[in-house]
Amino acid sequence: MDTVCRSKIMASIKSKNTKGELLVRRYLFKKGFRYRVNDRHLVGTPDIVLPKYRTVVFVNGCFWHVHAGCSDSVRPKTNTAFWDKKFAANVKRDQKVIKSLEDQGWKVLVVWECELKGKEKREATLLGLANEIWEGC
Ligand SMILES: [Zn+2]
Repeated sequence: MDTVCRSKIMASIKSKNTKGELLVRRYLFKKGFRYRVNDRHLVGTPDIVLPKYRTVVFVNGCFWHVHAGCSDSVRPKTNTAFWDKKFAANVKRDQKVIKSLEDQGWKVLVVWECELKGKEKREATLLGLANEIWEGC
């Protein structure tokens, strides 16, 4: 993979307001949740912040965030050393972010993009998410 191609992929993966994020936000809004998005005051800039529930939600792309055991989390076959390093750094950063938020008393929920694929799975995932947010209150 050449550098231009690689940086294009990285840009698309890192972009905010992904389809998955919008889907989750729209659902939560409909359920009556109110939230902030991409809150830079918090470590890791969580995708969705629900202050009332002291809960943050990350909507993670399976590729970028390395969803363990997921078929969407395939490693590119070229530049493997680069990707291995990159992925390892991402996983480590995610773990650090989650721990730091939890230490500050936040409940951290992660939705994987593959869990939003297909109507049935999506509905189950979103309902499960809403229930998890409601829990702790
Ligand atoms: Zn996945």
